[in-house]
Amino acid sequence: MAVESTTDAAGRSPSELSIAIIGAGMGGLGCALALAKKGFTDIQVYETASNLGFVGAGIQMAPNLVRILTRWDCWDKIAADSTDVRETSIRDGASNTELTHVDMGNIRDKYGFPHCTGHRASLAGGLYDGCRKESAITFHFGHALVSVDTFSPKPTFTIQTRDSRTRQVTADVLVAADGVKSLTRNALLSQLGLAAEAEPTGQAAYRVMLPREKMESDPDMMALLDSNQVTRWIGERRHWIAYPIHGRQIYNMSSIQPDVNFEAPSLSATYTTKGSKSAMLSVFDDFCPLVKKMLDLVPDGEVCEWKLHVHKPLPTWSHGSVALLGDACHPTLPHLNQGAAMAIEDGAVLAEVLARVPLPASDSMGEQTARAISKALAVYEELRKERTSTLVDLAAFSGRTLHLGEGKAKEERDRQFAEAKKNGGNVPDKWASPDVQKMIYTHDCMQVAAERFQELYCAATAES
Ligand SMILES: Cc1cc2nc3c(=O)[nH]c(=O)nc-3n(C[C@H](O)[C@H](O)[C@H](O)COP(=O)(O)OP(=O)(O)OC[C@H]3O[C@@H](n4cnc5c(N)ncnc54)[C@H](O)[C@@H]3O)c2cc1C
Repeated sequence: MAVESTTDAAGRSPSELSIAIIGAGMGGLGCALALAKKGFTDIQVYETASNLGFVGAGIQMAPNLVRILTRWDCWDKIAADSTDVRETSIRDGASNTELTHVDMGNIRDKYGFPHCTGHRASLAGGLYDGCRKESAITFHFGHALVSVDTFSPKPTFTIQTRDSRTRQVTADVLVAADGVKSLTRNALLSQLGLAAEAEPTGQAAYRVMLPREKMESDPDMMALLDSNQVTRWIGERRHWIAYPIHGRQIYNMSSIQPDVNFEAPSLSATYTTKGSKSAMLSVFDDFCPLVKKMLDLVPDGEVCEWKLHVHKPLPTWSHGSVALLGDACHPTLPHLNQGAAMAIEDGAVLAEVLARVPLPASDSMGEQTARAISKALAVYEELRKERTSTLVDLAAFSGRTLHLGEGKAKEERDRQFAEAKKNGGNVPDKWASPDVQKMIYTHDCMQVAAERFQELYCAATAES
């Protein structure tokens, strides 16, 4: 596939650029596949873990993500294991009374792509299978980035293998998709004399999965499992969100609650640990019998707990020929279900941008090439920052609204839920609100990048 270098017909093709990606999470996999689909021929992915190793949990895949996966020819296999979401029910956690109900049956017609729930492993597996079909992509599992040594003209970085051997690697572009604990982010900011450590949010999440056979004897549970519904039970400072995944063989439940029980000797790369079932039950002991009945079914030892982190917006996402992507630069609370989607969109946009970077025909020192790449990375940030900041802020706002305690603000929220239940319209739970869905789902990030590259690259050139 030809790279779309539209700006300098006489120059080198960007497809010759060597790209190193740190992290084979959702963002790293998406970025590798996006670059290969644009014709890049040398894409090296370094991942600390010895395999994909995704937390066993569900994930919501909204139309803006499905659009991209469809273009990359990897949606059909993921879809086979997914469930279409046609409705959402938001309920009071203590009483199970429905506060509002949003019909989502028309999402596919409205936006051209469905909103689905699925297994994280199936999304990651679909992306990975797509990557494996591309000879341009090489995976290096069990290879951890330990330092970024130079940022320009060609980034150099040190990789450590499982047997503690280290080697220095050079690439034309280094993409850091190394997640919320990003080492590259810290290196990049410290190079610029800045600091922005990830901050705990004071919130944690439990993730549990109920197999169909455990639910079979209970008609209320089976009604949820056999539905096309996402259900949220909300209470003060806590909630559960749940939906069927894996061909309705699993009911996936994830919560948010104050971060008081998380205990781990050291924090893993993704801030996850094994949670205590009894602690989980006590956090939700005033929730309705239906929720408690489901939590009771969870086998001991199968509660996963995530400590949720964010950080303040970064002053920059790139330096020299090094760029950040996904949770490394805009970690988010999960209330909008867009974290993985944003990471994958970032990769798609980065590929659109790098495929258009005008390169000089010859550049023995590599400095002109590095300058062009650096401007292209500024264009990538320009294309992505406003959208990701808006979504991160909306997710935080939605969390505050969902977790209100008794008082006037909660009364008003519940009035709005009731009004929407009666007459339709927008709801305070932002992910389910038609106005927010429209804003998120109609955005075709690849098309916008293609349309705006030239104008933004010229502006970046004028500024430099
Ligand atoms: C409770 C919860 C529910 C969520 N639900 C949804 C949802 O429904 N929909 C949605 O779109 N998003 C959801 N998200 C968000 C989503 O999971 C993340 O935003 C997304 O996984 C971020 O992808 P990433 O590739 O940036 O980071 P990650 O997925 O964290 O991947 C980073 C990768 O980099 C590797 N790595 C780290 N450091 C190094 C190093 N030094 N060297 C080499 N490799 C390294 C890690 O091992 C990891 O594989 C949810 C998040 C949470 C916490």
